[in-house]
Amino acid sequence: MDKIQHYIGGRLTSGTSTRFGNVFQPADGSVARQVTLGTAADVDAAVRAATAAFPKWAATTPLARARVMFRFRDLIEQNAKKLAAIITDEHGKVLSDALGEVTRGMEVVEYATAAPELLKGDFTEQAGRDIDAYSMRQPLGVCAGITPFNFPVMVPLWMLPMALACGNCFILKPSERDPSASLLIAELLKEAGLPDGVFGVVHGDKEVVDAILEHRGIHAVSFVGSTPIAEYIYNTGIKHGKRVQALGGAKNHAVIMPDCDLEKTVDALMGAAYGSAGERCMAISVAVAVGGIGDKLVETLAPRVRALKIGPGTDNTNEMGPLVTRVHLDKVTGYIDAGEAEGAQLVVDGRGLKLQGYEEGNFIGGTLFDHVKPEMKIYKEEIFGPVLSVVRADTFETALDLVNTHEFGNGTAIFTRDGDSARDFAHRVQAGMIGINVPIPVPMAFHSFGGWKRSLFGDHHMHGPEGVRFFTRYKAVTSRWPTGIRAGADFIMPTLG
Ligand code: NAD
Repeated sequence: MDKIQHYIGGRLTSGTSTRFGNVFQPADGSVARQVTLGTAADVDAAVRAATAAFPKWAATTPLARARVMFRFRDLIEQNAKKLAAIITDEHGKVLSDALGEVTRGMEVVEYATAAPELLKGDFTEQAGRDIDAYSMRQPLGVCAGITPFNFPVMVPLWMLPMALACGNCFILKPSERDPSASLLIAELLKEAGLPDGVFGVVHGDKEVVDAILEHRGIHAVSFVGSTPIAEYIYNTGIKHGKRVQALGGAKNHAVIMPDCDLEKTVDALMGAAYGSAGERCMAISVAVAVGGIGDKLVETLAPRVRALKIGPGTDNTNEMGPLVTRVHLDKVTGYIDAGEAEGAQLVVDGRGLKLQGYEEGNFIGGTLFDHVKPEMKIYKEEIFGPVLSVVRADTFETALDLVNTHEFGNGTAIFTRDGDSARDFAHRVQAGMIGINVPIPVPMAFHSFGGWKRSLFGDHHMHGPEGVRFFTRYKAVTSRWPTGIRAGADFIMPTLG
């Protein structure tokens, strides 16, 4: 059986590990290949290669780094179908959706091609008499990224183009559930002209993650995954003196106002709740029906959910593929059991779906609950599957309060025709990414991505301007040349002017 290797110092290596993890094909449940689960020694080898490569890479001009990004961008475009096929094979999502993921990742590379502009500092002539002041942003050193299964191309590309364009070296620890795309990314970076050692991939589980968090040669850690792990990564990383951004889980609410365009809202909810089988951190998993719109909303949604076309991701006519693993399928099924037991009204039940020819695949149908209450487990916790919960709220204020008191604050959306409610919502809601009649408001690459509350630990959102800040350190210089005025020794606090 194929063994997926690490990529260290510009070449594939099996490293020192004797442990392997199974990588499944979600559509039929078979084991497609195995991934090497690395050790602290493998992390150390990648850090040593990166540390050796860092001085030369950091000394290249931002323009030269941008040119590598330009070539990398073109290679992603040329290999987009190949990348998408790898995603579908190991993650299960429909090919067209996987292709969309590749494009959204490529957009961050496009943003990173602006490295000379992004890294341009500020300059003040005559900050004092004959004194100039300027500031610059410098790379941190060796950085690491730890990424989740649900976007095996896009999420690594939220991080690595920014880190590399800013002059850092970067080590990626991809999800062990769909690790193969990371190696094609490594190959394309090499072909784009990235020097060996600047980028590395170490596969593994907790053992590798802990080695990254503890390694003294790693200066910053960028993480995306579930909230308990994000919190652990943040606390452990900062304890070891690292800069950390750790993005966690979500429970994204859509507030449905009585004056919305119902047909368009239902279209939006269908894509946002069931696209990618709900395995998106920006999926809508709660619809808060305000005023009297609940009955009509559920009536319109239910037949659409029943009619979802479900099948293997390789068939682009399918709207939903399988879940990533059998374990995850059992977890999602368990949540539906719990919702039923707690008394939520199960309008559409997706459990027990069997597709002919794919009996062992991790398929589940779209599921719709109505009359879900805030104290229920299916409301409080992230399910990460194709399950939409409708909650009823009498007023806009009650709906807003629901969003604001939830533990998570990743994204949220309001559906309305009323500018006042939309503006009020955007202003007062406690979440990082807001949609107004846009169900999945994922910021474009030139803005930054991140949530609030327990959806993000750390100070920086990802990519865009926040990405530049995260992957650089700020330095301010105050300069006077000896030909300037001679003021004699100064014993008081200098006040320039
Ligand atoms: P996960 O937390 O299980 O895994 C994420 C990464 O952490 C993986 O690389 C994994 O190997 C590692 N990991 C897992 N358990 C660990 C442990 N005990 N100690 C150290 N490392 C560990 O997440 P997942 O299931 O791969 O991805 C789904 C989750 O990611 C969902 O909660 C989703 O909301 C979240 N997510 C968030 C965003 C965001 O931007 N906020 C984006 C995508 C996914």
